[in-house]
Amino acid sequence: MVRTYIALGSNLGDRLGYLRGAVREMAAVGKIVAISSLYETTPVGYLDQPWFLNAVVALDTEASPKGLHRHLQGLEEAAGRQRPFPNAPRTLDLDIVFYGDLVLDRRELTIPHPRLHERAFVLVPLVELAPDLRHPTLHLTVRELLAALGDVRGQLLQIAGPDWATGEG
Ligand code: ADP
Ligand code: MG
Repeated sequence: MVRTYIALGSNLGDRLGYLRGAVREMAAVGKIVAISSLYETTPVGYLDQPWFLNAVVALDTEASPKGLHRHLQGLEEAAGRQRPFPNAPRTLDLDIVFYGDLVLDRRELTIPHPRLHERAFVLVPLVELAPDLRHPTLHLTVRELLAALGDVRGQLLQIAGPDWATGEG
């Protein structure tokens, strides 16, 4: 079993529905051991698009990195994900943030995720689940990576606690 962290995002259509569906479907590839609060966040990169919903889940899995990635891409496709241009609005984005302490550097799969340390929308929910987790190449903890970003309060808003994934509200 390997502890992995998956970042979830959506800013198109039924955002909450896509994220809830993803959490449900991820159970097919492992055991969900923790779910962060739900955040509404400002877009990054391409700014002229709707706000995102973001969260992070901890998933224990027997799947290989490649197998996990393939499963997550299948879920993105099932949610109707299109890729017209980089940073385009998306129904569902599922990124592997950490896979144990694995370091992998391939174009199709880079682990830890190459931009996680720049992203408040990943680090803020991740701090809830694993503040002392140490980045295997940057050698800082998740809490330290977030502190290095400075004041991120203008970039995101916590809109629900961890029960967002199962609640009916
Ligand atoms: P974004 O960077 O906005 O998440 P995409 O979801 O379209 O964009 O992913 C772009 C490419 O990033 C995909 O082809 C995927 O194979 C690759 N990729 C590299 N590392 C990872 C990772 N850790 N998790 C998910 N996808 C990754
Ligand atoms: Mg992605």
